Amino acid sequence: MSQFISVFEMLKIGVGPSSSHTLGPWRAAQQWIQKLKSEQLFKKLDRIQVDLYGSLSLTGKGHATDLAILLGLSEADPEYIPIEDIFIIVERINIQEEIYCKGGKIIPFPRSSIKFNREFLPFHANGMTFKGFCEDKEISSETYFSIGGGFIVQENNSLEDEIEISKKNFPFPINRAIQLEEYCEKENLLISEIVFKNELELRSYEEIDHQLRRIWDTMLESMYLGCHTFGTLPGGLNVKRRAFDTHQKLIKDTSYTNPEEWITAIRSSEVKFREILKWVSCLALSVNEVNASLGRVVTAPTNGSAGVIPAVLMYYMVIENHDADFSHVKRFLLTAGEIGSIFKKNATISAAMGGCQAEIGVSSAMAAAALTEMLGGTVAQCLSAAEIAMEHHLGMTCDPIGGLVQVPCIERNSMGAIKAIHAAEIALETNPKECLVSLDKVIDTMWETAKDMNKNYKETSEGGLAVTVRLADC
Ligand code: SF4
Repeated sequence: MSQFISVFEMLKIGVGPSSSHTLGPWRAAQQWIQKLKSEQLFKKLDRIQVDLYGSLSLTGKGHATDLAILLGLSEADPEYIPIEDIFIIVERINIQEEIYCKGGKIIPFPRSSIKFNREFLPFHANGMTFKGFCEDKEISSETYFSIGGGFIVQENNSLEDEIEISKKNFPFPINRAIQLEEYCEKENLLISEIVFKNELELRSYEEIDHQLRRIWDTMLESMYLGCHTFGTLPGGLNVKRRAFDTHQKLIKDTSYTNPEEWITAIRSSEVKFREILKWVSCLALSVNEVNASLGRVVTAPTNGSAGVIPAVLMYYMVIENHDADFSHVKRFLLTAGEIGSIFKKNATISAAMGGCQAEIGVSSAMAAAALTEMLGGTVAQCLSAAEIAMEHHLGMTCDPIGGLVQVPCIERNSMGAIKAIHAAEIALETNPKECLVSLDKVIDTMWETAKDMNKNYKETSEGGLAVTVRLADC
């Protein structure tokens, strides 16, 4: 049976700065606590030890993995927790060295309870083990792997086991881009329409609508917040937030009081080529500045690359089509989600497995295909746009300075968004039959490149910019 990954698995509301290093460990800690409860072990628990391995350990501090573990063990939900509560919970645990679980249980948790181990577990670069004790006797030990985009698996379980919904029979089972194209041709439907029919197997029309609206609202709020927040980002690099200044220059003195009025205000602003570049760049920066400060963003397909899709979607809404409304947003997100899922099934969306090509490259390909559909391109041109966007990210390494999702990450979202728009325009001017490289071929190439890539460039901060520019230099 073909695996179906819902658009709501690819686009998840969460907390920054990293889907693999923050959201995944957070979810794993939550899942482990739930397991203990279902096995009636939770009540006995009087000590916890957490071991982080490989990339989770090497860049875990910069990616807030330790904080995410604390929040997951406290059973906080990353989708709904008020952002201001995050710091309160973490500070309380750090000061009192105790975890406060739902129902009033308190578990001692000295700082030494999380161990950062440099070695890698064989199954995946992002491993973590949770151990529970009762009177110094081990009562539980579970190892989880954070495989990118907030997905977590255990070694003996496949992704299909983790995503229960994938076991259903879907009208259009899709593994490869060629299958998607064939369904679209046979049914005379757009990519978004095929994806929508698959989603209807899982939830009602109203639920799909509601969930997509929540995703869009979160994207819009993260752009709005990022464009209206100044200062420096946390973590020690002293990176200045840039979206604020650029936004001030672009919006000038146009007045608005909320995100919806803001969209109208941007639509009335000057749009020469340089302004368009600056707007797209500013919108992408804004989301990733929010992400870098542990704010709420949509993982698309990862947190590090969360700015690309909102920036390209806003570009469509405020530059290309001033009449665009939520119906356009829905189509955009459905198409983008499906392209991301094909990458996930056939390659990776984890920087720890494939470098930054797997994050920014995939997000750019998702956005390029979606934009092409919105601009009236054929299905083949949409797939071609995704291919072009990825082709020009192949080999891109992951080397965040200080292990923080800031440099080069934040700017990379601007570049990924601009490349997506460019890829869509190239595809719209191209006959896909004349293209030498298909989307499936470029996905295969990305995966081969990922396997060949030196591990120093896979989210370890042991190569590239992370080595030539040390935290102490900043
Ligand atoms: S360099 Fe790219 S892949 Fe690595 S953390 Fe930054 S955005 Fe993610």
